[in-house]
Amino acid sequence: MTKRRKLYEGKAKILYQGPQPGTLVQYFKDDATAFNAQKKGNIAGKGVLNNLISEKIFSGLEAIGIPTHFIKRANMREQLIKKVEIIPLEVIIRNVVAGSMAKRLGLEEGMELDRSIIEFSYKDDSLGDPLVAAEHALALGWVTDDELDQITAMTFRINDFMCGLFAGIGIRLVDFKLEFGRYVDENGDEVIILADEISPDTCRLWDLKTMKKLDKDRFRRDLGGVEEAYQEVARRLGVLPKGGLEGE
Ligand code: UDP
Repeated sequence: MTKRRKLYEGKAKILYQGPQPGTLVQYFKDDATAFNAQKKGNIAGKGVLNNLISEKIFSGLEAIGIPTHFIKRANMREQLIKKVEIIPLEVIIRNVVAGSMAKRLGLEEGMELDRSIIEFSYKDDSLGDPLVAAEHALALGWVTDDELDQITAMTFRINDFMCGLFAGIGIRLVDFKLEFGRYVDENGDEVIILADEISPDTCRLWDLKTMKKLDKDRFRRDLGGVEEAYQEVARRLGVLPKGGLEGE
């Protein structure tokens, strides 16, 4: 796909103007950041793997009726997506205690939760994506009541689908982050759809038997074997490319 005008460059992805109105091209980089970009690095082949992993998951979600921004994969590093107005919330769902929740509450990582939890963070790098209550999002006009209900219902459905998908390949889905956007559909109606990506950058994935971490925590915590972990997730999902990970 020929490169079009760059509209936005983030930490792990670039957005280009798409070939049709209302579309964008989402390019996946190998760059990795953690701790609000204080730690920077590069994970060889990550962009290709996240593109393929995210395609697999978004296609599966579309198949069960979850509307997403995904249109089609364009090449090894790019996908064609619908342009949305991103809602400034990181929607986090947790099945097992880990990461910031363990730290904040002084809990051991690995504790199974009696029920899955949804948390919201305000998407603002300069503030470090602070945790907010749903009330903040409503009172500050970031979402309407109806939008928040839709986001919550979709997030639980996505969690159910993904827990099953990963359990089937021997992986515990510990937690993950979603982003949603507003999209004007063919009928001119504004609808909420799933946006961004779902990949080992945005999920905690632990091997069910060994508990080995197969996600970005290997990079965040300097555990080594980062590239291998992303490849392992892709391999188990059946999307590891046989011809190598160059895909520039
Ligand atoms: N997460 C993410 N982007 C963020 C923050 C979190 O994708 O900016 C994901 C993270 O990979 C994990 C989940 O959301 O799967 C929960 O993250 P947590 O709140 O524990 O924060 P962290 O420990 O990553 O700082």
